[in-house]
Amino acid sequence: MVSDDDLFARLRSYEGCPAASGTGRYPVNTAMISHWCEVMGDPDPDATPDPAHEGPTAVAPPAMLQAWIMPGPTTAPGAGPQRSAAYGELLALLDAAGCTAVVATDCEQEYLRPLHPGDVITFDSVIEQISPRKTTSLGTGHFVTTRTEIRANGEPAATHRFRILKYRPHHAADASRRPRPVVDRDNAGFWEGVAENRLLLQRCTACDRLRFPWGPGCPDCGSDRWETAEASGAGTVHSYVVVHHPPHPAFAPPYAVGLVELAEGVRMISTVTGAGPAELRIGMPVELEFARAYGPGDAQQLPFFRARHQRDSRQDAPCREDAPCRQDAP
Ligand code: ZN
Repeated sequence: MVSDDDLFARLRSYEGCPAASGTGRYPVNTAMISHWCEVMGDPDPDATPDPAHEGPTAVAPPAMLQAWIMPGPTTAPGAGPQRSAAYGELLALLDAAGCTAVVATDCEQEYLRPLHPGDVITFDSVIEQISPRKTTSLGTGHFVTTRTEIRANGEPAATHRFRILKYRPHHAADASRRPRPVVDRDNAGFWEGVAENRLLLQRCTACDRLRFPWGPGCPDCGSDRWETAEASGAGTVHSYVVVHHPPHPAFAPPYAVGLVELAEGVRMISTVTGAGPAELRIGMPVELEFARAYGPGDAQQLPFFRARHQRDSRQDAPCREDAPCRQDAP
């Protein structure tokens, strides 16, 4: 096993190595300047005209510097900025040491000359500095600073320092800190059903519409008359999101939050168990189950949906930190 000191020494050996180089995807242009100003809420992008140049926006706002060196969202491999082998090795070393998470922490820019429409941007980045191991609220890791020299038509135009934290995230999920249901007089019947392993919907007795979540009135006809209808427990994943950040002490990211469409036609948000975030699919069949989600000593149950493809193997499935423990289920 590599000691912290050995790792730091290896990481520091990359200081001064190239990180990336390339040419801006587009020359400086008024269309991108207008879009940037619009997104930033700048009502008057002409506020800093350069008397030496003609045109409605003769100087690019300095703060949009990084926009000129970013690849496009779908840039083909090899077509955007070329990351160096050294930078790839540095990130791989950090990954291998468990620092698999990354967050951008800050950037500093120094402007040497204005950028005008038509300027062709080129740049070179170096790995400037690796910090000793630091412990932050996100986790423990190393700050990596890159310094990028940006040129316009070959002339020095700006320096851009960018700092990231590559860190080992805190993974210990504490189930007891999962947010508690808020029970009020409008939804108390739902939670009474959950305590009896029943998923209860509301059915409007005026227009027959089923609804979820519970509420005092029918969203269709406005009637406040209703009865309960028990869901069969069958459903499909209508949609889902995978949460990587921000961390919550009760959950170990990445984890998926599903929007499940019940066989009865209503939808509910729920944890989907038995399938990792990479395995979840829209349309995947799921089946209702109830589990004590706050730990074995806590009687509060929650409804979950288990991906049906794992049904046959779940007897052997180990308990996962981010899924309710089946052994805890009643
Ligand atoms: Zn109704």
